[in-house]
Amino acid sequence: MDPVRTLMTVHAHPDDESSKTAGTVAKYSDDGVRTVLVCATGGEEGEILNQQFAGLISSADIADVRRQELKKATDILGYSEVYMLGYRDSGMAGSQSNSNPEAFCNVALDRATSALVEIIRKERPQVLITYGEDQSRYPHPDHLKVHEISILAFQLAGDHQYHPELGQAHQVSKLYYTIWSKARVIALHERYMQLGLESPFNDEALARPGQDEQITTSIDVYGYFDRKLGALRAHASQIDPNSQFFFGLSSQDQAAAYPLEDYRLAQSKVGTSFDVLETDLFAGI
Ligand SMILES: [Zn+2]
Repeated sequence: MDPVRTLMTVHAHPDDESSKTAGTVAKYSDDGVRTVLVCATGGEEGEILNQQFAGLISSADIADVRRQELKKATDILGYSEVYMLGYRDSGMAGSQSNSNPEAFCNVALDRATSALVEIIRKERPQVLITYGEDQSRYPHPDHLKVHEISILAFQLAGDHQYHPELGQAHQVSKLYYTIWSKARVIALHERYMQLGLESPFNDEALARPGQDEQITTSIDVYGYFDRKLGALRAHASQIDPNSQFFFGLSSQDQAAAYPLEDYRLAQSKVGTSFDVLETDLFAGI
């Protein structure tokens, strides 16, 4: 048994750790759980969405800026350790940067998987969170690749015969996927309406199906919205501080509207029932 409870998240770009899984990590970190982020790329293709930075950051500097922003955000969230896999951002689907041989989407699957396996064997997490296979909502090649390498690494980190030179085999107990919850969008939209504020969700956004029927696990992060929004703000070059979507509601109003972060338990090695809604990622471990 590993005495330390460890939660690992695998994300694609700096800022994904703040827009997804942020409250969950802050909460478990406060509970004494070791929290580890693996970030696949440097976010080199990120667009400057904050007008204050327009023209001030060259494309050569963007990776440096984003590394500093990531450091600030992960400090706010309480991450114990951050690993960069060091691959290049592939850019949005269909963009020219997809064809860069250095781009994460073009890295050989075994090379990227073995890099993640090495970190899993070193950190020995019981819980791993990554993205699910259904990414039709946001089909970014780097997010798809994160899913691919995460499910392979979940299998292979515990396989003694797979690259034994990468460290002592370790089987992660539970693998989770982030979920796009429609209930959350509706709750936030209603809160904007109640407060007489302009909602960032138009009819099209409200009509889109969610993944709610896949939710197996909901983590109550009511007290963690200040840190979640603080972490988002730390990505100052990427996130418009006037974004109605991220900051149109105060942290208190967001927490009151929908205090949960939702997940799908994709695989469990500890005999978890998939029929009972979990409220703790470490349940059964
Ligand atoms: Zn991303």
